Amino acid sequence: MIRIVTAASLAALHAEVDDAWDLARQSREEVAEQWAARLAVSRELIEERKALTGIARTAIVQAEELSQQAAQLRQAFTAALLVMARQAARIRQLEQAGHNAMACAACEAPVAWQDCPTGGWWHHLDHPGDGHDAIPMPASAMEGGEEA
Ligand SMILES: [Zn+2]
Repeated sequence: MIRIVTAASLAALHAEVDDAWDLARQSREEVAEQWAARLAVSRELIEERKALTGIARTAIVQAEELSQQAAQLRQAFTAALLVMARQAARIRQLEQAGHNAMACAACEAPVAWQDCPTGGWWHHLDHPGDGHDAIPMPASAMEGGEEA
């Protein structure tokens, strides 16, 4: 077939090509816009992730610091308890030493200390009667005992 090209058909072809170019340009622009939008969202997500990572790291550091402080407090508390226990033991020793240096004022017999949560008292092994009060034992009566 022989195609007869006329000015009218040429003009129509030009118009189709122009439309095709317009469509192609619009498509490129739409793709570019969508790509730009996705890039922006992606950047926002990256920034958010950075911020959250920073917050998480800060929280981890703070948790470690608090843990160390708690450990230090536990050590200090344990040390204080040990000191208190040693002091209590020393006080008991001193009290016992003082108690061992006591004797009965009436018969000069050694007396023992009966401890009690509300105080305590001196006593003979066998109660000899009233009027037997404990006093510090004379140094001469202490044979090889602890020095007062
Ligand atoms: Zn006595």
